[in-house]
Amino acid sequence: MSSHPFNRVLAKPLFDVRKIREDFPILKTKIHGHPLVYLDNAATTQKPQVVIQAIQDYYAQINSNIHRGVHTLSEQATQRYEEARKTVQEFVHASNPREIIFVRGATEAVNLVAQSFGRQKVHEGDEIIISTLEHHSNIVPWQILCEETGAKLRVIPIGDNGELLLDQYENLIHSQTRLVAVTHVSNALGTVNPVQKIIEIAHDRNVPVLVDGAQAAPHIEVDVQALDCDFYLFSGHKLYAPTGIGVLYGKESLLEKMSPYQSGGDMIRSVTFEKTTYNALPYKFEAGTPNVAGTIGLGVAIRYLNTIGLKNIAQHEKELIETLADTLSKIPKLKIVGTPQERAGAVSFVLEGAHPHDVGTVLDREG
Ligand code: PMP
Repeated sequence: MSSHPFNRVLAKPLFDVRKIREDFPILKTKIHGHPLVYLDNAATTQKPQVVIQAIQDYYAQINSNIHRGVHTLSEQATQRYEEARKTVQEFVHASNPREIIFVRGATEAVNLVAQSFGRQKVHEGDEIIISTLEHHSNIVPWQILCEETGAKLRVIPIGDNGELLLDQYENLIHSQTRLVAVTHVSNALGTVNPVQKIIEIAHDRNVPVLVDGAQAAPHIEVDVQALDCDFYLFSGHKLYAPTGIGVLYGKESLLEKMSPYQSGGDMIRSVTFEKTTYNALPYKFEAGTPNVAGTIGLGVAIRYLNTIGLKNIAQHEKELIETLADTLSKIPKLKIVGTPQERAGAVSFVLEGAHPHDVGTVLDREG
């Protein structure tokens, strides 16, 4: 066991890495005869047994639709679903559960804000600021909104080290800016953006800020009240939870004024053919039967993370990433892309003369 790569990294581990590996059944799998060293967590994470079990228990013991049924199973499922909301609320330090909206993932959360907040607030001649470090899901919804409204998309550039150029950001933001939408951590370079500073600069000019936390929530303790961000979002599946469940946090004062993104059951208070009134927050934004099993799984995944402690995880990963960057930099013809001061989750590199696809295939052969 001691020769396993994970056991060589830290002199003084903050927790028992071997024990944590045992929590993940898939890590017993061998790939091409080698123990699996799973490095694709930025794409999606593996699931601990407690999460897998929670999904099975839901379907085996309390499967039913939520909020509407008066029978025991529906009440139990509703209770577990709403407990998960409370867990998420505490996880991101939101002031109340009405600010936590369950969505399909980070992508849907951005689309919700673009189509609801965006359509209400963004008009011809207005501007939206994003950055060069964004994932497609925090680019395309804004491009579409700009096409629909005649607004303009402005992009904060990065320097050679892979960090955002904040002085250029300050020049981009002005009286026509309606929203700043930036990632907390870059999925490509691992850069941790100075979101606190970005938010302060925007708020000085009364511009709200959306933070894409898809790559941050699994690695960094997030406090939406301390950040004072207006929207914060992430996907469950990158946080050891199932696919198809994600979170949009929004300040209640903003969510209250926003129109529903989708409509149908559960998001309504009363419906007649003449007029429909909407349900209260957060249900106004949760039309239709939600991913109940996934939501319960997300709550369990967060509670699992809490038992290890986000601070411990962040510290452990910092040491892993420093070791990784150090070791990689000794490989001839390897160039690390981006050298940000603060990095989480990912290191990008190119190997001279080798296509990334081939590098990936060779590493896969090694498990
Ligand atoms: N934002 C970032 C920074 C991401 O890395 C990703 C996923 N790679 C997303 C958004 C989109 O997440 P999802 O596909 O789960 O909606």
